[in-house]
Amino acid sequence: MDFDSGPLPQRHQLIRRLPKVDLHCHLEGTVQPATRAKLAQARGIEAVVDLDQPNRHSSATELVGVFDQLGSLLQTSADFELLVYEAARDAAAAGIHYREMLFSPGFHLQRGVTFATLWEGMNAGIEAGKADFGVTTRLIVDVDAPRGAPLVFALLQLIRNTDRQVLIGIGGDVRGVVADDALERVVNDANAIGLKTCFHMGADAPASRIASLIDAGVDRIGHGARLLENRDIAVRVIEMEQPVVSCPSSDVALGVVDKLSAHPFREQFRRGVHVTLSSDCPALSGLDLADEYAAGADAFGMTDDALDDVIVAGINAAWLDDGQKRSMRNALVSVRRCGSMAEATAAEW
Ligand SMILES: [Zn+2]
Repeated sequence: MDFDSGPLPQRHQLIRRLPKVDLHCHLEGTVQPATRAKLAQARGIEAVVDLDQPNRHSSATELVGVFDQLGSLLQTSADFELLVYEAARDAAAAGIHYREMLFSPGFHLQRGVTFATLWEGMNAGIEAGKADFGVTTRLIVDVDAPRGAPLVFALLQLIRNTDRQVLIGIGGDVRGVVADDALERVVNDANAIGLKTCFHMGADAPASRIASLIDAGVDRIGHGARLLENRDIAVRVIEMEQPVVSCPSSDVALGVVDKLSAHPFREQFRRGVHVTLSSDCPALSGLDLADEYAAGADAFGMTDDALDDVIVAGINAAWLDDGQKRSMRNALVSVRRCGSMAEATAAEW
């Protein structure tokens, strides 16, 4: 979306200002084309031209290739600091106050970049992003790729003593990475070192695979677009108030549904699933979290109350303490009081 082409509709402008959390966003998917070009030039690497077309990725495998290409550009602490800092800048522009951001160390470790290099750079970026933009960023290690169960356990070893105020969980797409019968061990090992878990089994995972994640004890489900295909599993998810972090535009890009209005998000919300919205790979899709909410508001006919409920579901699903969640909910109410536009839509949920 081009924000220089003219004024946005008023409601979209307000959505952009509403304080939000982003619970499923990949650091590697936040890198803007200009930054990619700058890094490529600094490394003497041919420009990564095929990354500059929004929505170009059409499968999870292709997305892994995109991350791998990006990884080749990142070598120093300063590179990672820049990425995290710019991600915070762009998050602030989307009204994100708090983000639990995935990063994929596997790509960098296999190129000989040390974990200490990543860690030092990302911590510096987090501090500077908080100071300059007021965005709190905490980290989730993506154990997804490059694939392989041994890497998951090796990563858990590597991060066992990292600061839990910064690194708070592990996540990613564990389909094909961790055998179903090893999932529980991964979750238990993560919990034992103070980490939460948020996994999915592919954006198009059937409800039975979603159930296997719940059985293993994960804290949050990613994507979950096909949850309602199995009534019993859906009821279970609703009754246990299991958070589902939905990325509808990504699901469209990945072919799970053919258009946003066909996405089951609206129906999940109506049935009482604790579902919220996240951005996934905003620089690759060309849609930041404010765009995702605005597109969802239009495609799903969301009232302002419904929008707020989805934002609050995100706040409640964040790995924050109760006081922090309360102050974020209060911030949302304050912004609404300053300029409610409830009349902007007549659609009923
Ligand atoms: Zn993702």
